[in-house]
Amino acid sequence: GASSESYQQRNEITVSGKDVPMPMTSFEAIGLPSEILRELLQAGFPAPTPIQAQSWPIALQNRDIVAIAKTGSGKTLGYLIPAFMHLKRVRKNPQLGPTVLVLSPTRELATQIQDEAVKFGRSARISCTCLYGGAPKGPQLRDLSRGVDIVVATPGRLNDILEMRRVSLSQVSYLVLDEADRMLDMGFEPQIRKIVKEVPARRQTLMYTATWPKEVRKIAADLLVNPVQVNIGNVN
Ligand code: ADP
Ligand code: MG
Repeated sequence: GASSESYQQRNEITVSGKDVPMPMTSFEAIGLPSEILRELLQAGFPAPTPIQAQSWPIALQNRDIVAIAKTGSGKTLGYLIPAFMHLKRVRKNPQLGPTVLVLSPTRELATQIQDEAVKFGRSARISCTCLYGGAPKGPQLRDLSRGVDIVVATPGRLNDILEMRRVSLSQVSYLVLDEADRMLDMGFEPQIRKIVKEVPARRQTLMYTATWPKEVRKIAADLLVNPVQVNIGNVN
């Protein structure tokens, strides 16, 4: 549509990888459950943002993605919409642990991601819980024990809860590292690596970052398999 074309003109997009699919320039193209599509249309969004248009079809092919994009480009739905589709296909028993895990640097960002997951996923009965430090563990453990499809967590708190053996990541098959550069700046690399060891190797991994320094490249090389790289804007 006209709006997605103008996005492409305003934003410099580079996608590198083998057999990269065409962007999805409409919400209808995704094949979403009707209740989720309805939420997207009700939100009043005119069209997918460039990062969404590019990353949805790649993620729907079960491929790993590393996306380098600035704040405000719509990355959250960029990974949540394929996460919903993933859940529709491979949803496990939520009592055994989450199927989707999103790591985020701060409580504030984790809460925003959860809000978006609840807003767009609730009508499809997708459940999401948020784990972050600086708050009592009790309510978070109680939410976990009820069973969840999606966990959004800061690495420190998730690691604490893993050490208490109050959550299992053995069912996770869709892993997102949001704001990876910021998580590394905050010193979360050891926790991230410990967490990822608990996630089965047979998974889809998506990494989002605003910058692309060598520390981020290194962790991407270690955790992702043949990722398609999506660059939006001049971030380097
Ligand atoms: P990022 O993580 O890239 O910083 P967010 O995912 O937080 O960006 O999205 C920024 C804002 O844009 C949010 O308020 C979100 O609801 C909104 N948004 C997401 N997708 C679209 C879209 N397709 N069209 C318009 N606004 C959108
Ligand atoms: Mg974000």
